[in-house]
Amino acid sequence: MKLSNLSIIFIIFMLPIMLIVSYYVSMQIDTINMQTAYNSKLLTSTKSAVEAFEINTVEWNESYSSVANSKRRDVMASVNTFLTSFANSIGTAGISKEDVLAYVPAILTTLYDGYYIYTPSETMETIKNQDGSDIAMSKSIKDKLIGCNDSFIEKNSGKLLYKCESSSYTYNGQAFTLDPSKASKTYSHMLKPFSTYSARYKKDDNTDIVVNYTLDNYITISGVVNGKYIIKSGYLTNEGGGLNSYNKWKNASENLSENIYFKYKDNTYCKMCTYVYASDNTKVYFDGNVPFIVSATGERTDLSDIKTIYYKKIATEDLLYVYPYVYQALNSGVVSVNGTNKNIVAGNFYTDMNGTEFTTKPLSFELKKDYSAKNCGLASYKFTEWVNKNLKDITIGDMQDVENPSLYGASTDKIFATNTGNNDPENRSSIFVRHKNEIIKQTLISNLEQAITGYSRNSEGNYELPILTDEDWDQILRNVSIVTFVQGIPIGMKYYNNYVVATSTANKEFVNPDEIYINDISPYYHMPYCDKIVGSPVYSAYRNIDYIAKSYIDENGKTISYYKHNSNYYSGQTSIQECYYCLVQRDLYNKTNDADKLKKIEDAYTLALYRERYVTHKFETYDEENELENQKEKDKNNFNAQFEQYKGNITGAKVKELIEKVNKNNLSDSEHQVWVYSTILLDNMNDSKTYSVTFNYTGDDLGLEHTGRSRSRISID
Ligand SMILES: [Zn+2]
Repeated sequence: MKLSNLSIIFIIFMLPIMLIVSYYVSMQIDTINMQTAYNSKLLTSTKSAVEAFEINTVEWNESYSSVANSKRRDVMASVNTFLTSFANSIGTAGISKEDVLAYVPAILTTLYDGYYIYTPSETMETIKNQDGSDIAMSKSIKDKLIGCNDSFIEKNSGKLLYKCESSSYTYNGQAFTLDPSKASKTYSHMLKPFSTYSARYKKDDNTDIVVNYTLDNYITISGVVNGKYIIKSGYLTNEGGGLNSYNKWKNASENLSENIYFKYKDNTYCKMCTYVYASDNTKVYFDGNVPFIVSATGERTDLSDIKTIYYKKIATEDLLYVYPYVYQALNSGVVSVNGTNKNIVAGNFYTDMNGTEFTTKPLSFELKKDYSAKNCGLASYKFTEWVNKNLKDITIGDMQDVENPSLYGASTDKIFATNTGNNDPENRSSIFVRHKNEIIKQTLISNLEQAITGYSRNSEGNYELPILTDEDWDQILRNVSIVTFVQGIPIGMKYYNNYVVATSTANKEFVNPDEIYINDISPYYHMPYCDKIVGSPVYSAYRNIDYIAKSYIDENGKTISYYKHNSNYYSGQTSIQECYYCLVQRDLYNKTNDADKLKKIEDAYTLALYRERYVTHKFETYDEENELENQKEKDKNNFNAQFEQYKGNITGAKVKELIEKVNKNNLSDSEHQVWVYSTILLDNMNDSKTYSVTFNYTGDDLGLEHTGRSRSRISID
């Protein structure tokens, strides 16, 4: 064959192949490019959703409420932001938010104490009455019967029910059914109800509880403990029972101040003011000595103008078992107590029980100091003490309603015994935190799987929950996050499937220990312990959201921006910025090795963390009756431990020893009193003769009002 013939054959065969290959390669490149473009669109849209959530909860809504309805509304707003943003970024003409939905199997929003999933699901159509409430399920078309005659047959709970044939009902001409399998169903995306991160534990017939977990060590326990129904919330620490931590919080207080914008008598101001948190967590500011509050729209109201007394709540230590909290009046005024008018002077103290004033002022608290950190510290101490005592034996093996308990940790590990070595709930590697994180993870996985299986059943192709990486989980477990899943978008030669995790660092949901910054006397704020922090006699610390620039419009219509925490030292300064070395270029961060500075920073940081926790979450009110019982039980155990050995017939020498011991006991700090009843005078006692001794722990208090004292009797015959 001639070379030219070979060339022709080569061209005939190879050219189409080359064309196809080159087309294929260019398609591949297009697909990869599109995939990269979609990745960035998905990421951007998910981040927009997080921003929307942050704006709703931080920027506009200063008094963000934890009411479920407002949370739901904020989550729905961020879901809508994602859908709109993603539809817009895809950029194909005519594609709408609704069109995008077909590619979205699920959007997960994880919050501090639970989560929402937005996913398509089947819902039954309902028929509503005039009042708009559901009365029955709408019957699916194939099951609708012909020839209903609307004849009245019965009245059911005041509603008219009509019947046409044996099992078919109509209401206002619409056929309905009471049988779910015959109901007409629609398939659409919806935000499923809020769910918590929770687990159930059962020890024996006396203890069966559900524990709701959060992103940190705050928990809620409900159920039966030692045969008694309880519901309790609080921060679990590893400090329960340790006197050190109790002493740590005894004298904790803070000087808080911030720049606050307000409108007052036709003028606008932005002023650095001292503030404290009132008992309902409203900030009460002081302009000099004038206490005032500021509304969400910036209106200042002086407390003297509204005839309401604001109180500050302070946990007490010396009177821990008697008066748990005192209420200090923040403004002066007149109130009616039991029908009589009473003059209240700012700075006075009241109990919370019935508004009765202390007859003596046992403690002095400074009016303009804030005690929220102390309240949180002592409440956590009390809560932890209770948990350590009552739930110490509950192990991971006691978990109920789970298929594979070994997923959640070693079955003999005691979750709530936080007073033991390796179980500090503030430490991420503790038994408690690892167990809790696994519960959150498994709860989310199983609910996402359910949502995605449902989606897969109702769409073409098969879609499974992608496996989230350890880094993804680490993000989700550290803060409020939004996880978006998309699947099946045609791109070039294949379908686009992916998910994105975006985390919020600035929200009011969660007091993140990583997001508390330190103020010094320079124009910069820092991460705790940064070596660029300027030496200062004292530091203050606030949440990251408090460092965001704010703005207002002054009386001339000019927009003025300001920062809440510009430094006092640089009074001319209008801004305070992120420290370049710790917050901008985080890899340049160095921890200071100045011991004095470290200690002061740690104090400021801990106070800020506990203060923010106190004003963000619910803390249970003090249970006086329960406390009294606890105290009596302690006294009884203490009494028995000391005196049980003397019971029965003992010698006169022992009796004298006993009486000496009792006298000592009365001198101790215990409120418990031991009284000795003896028919024989001490002087007449014979050291070697035996006497009969009986013990009687009565538990009665001494009849003194508001005392937790109990007494016991030792009788000697
Ligand atoms: Zn720094």
